[in-house]
Amino acid sequence: MSDCLFCKIISGEIPSAKVYEDENVFAFRDIAPQAPTHILVVPREHIESVADLNADNSALAARCLEAAAVIARQEGLRGGFRVVSNCGDDAGQTVKHLHFHILGGERLGDRMA
Ligand code: 5GP
Ligand code: ZN
Repeated sequence: MSDCLFCKIISGEIPSAKVYEDENVFAFRDIAPQAPTHILVVPREHIESVADLNADNSALAARCLEAAAVIARQEGLRGGFRVVSNCGDDAGQTVKHLHFHILGGERLGDRMA
């Protein structure tokens, strides 16, 4: 998708602080961190959100979560972490390219919403 911010980050057209990449997945630090560690994990393929997952592409979401486990170890998040994926306007999704937030590095709030 030529007008997608995260596609541009994946291609390197827009710079980012990369923390992980493999054949299917790219991960980088959020530009406006909401926790001491705040990383975005995205599939290289453009999928709009969780609402667009299906039997043909859900393996890419699984790859993202496998990467999240690797990244959490890499980042030393031994006390735990939260994985969040905002989907659609009610959830406040601002970038319409599937992404999983990894939040950690401190005791997170008890409320999720
Ligand atoms: P959403 O609100 O869609 O769940 O999450 C989008 C995230 O992308 C936000 O946390 C926001 O701070 C982050 N973000 C927006 N623009 C950029 C950017 O240019 N670079 C990086 N690294 N993160 C960004
Ligand atoms: Zn995209």
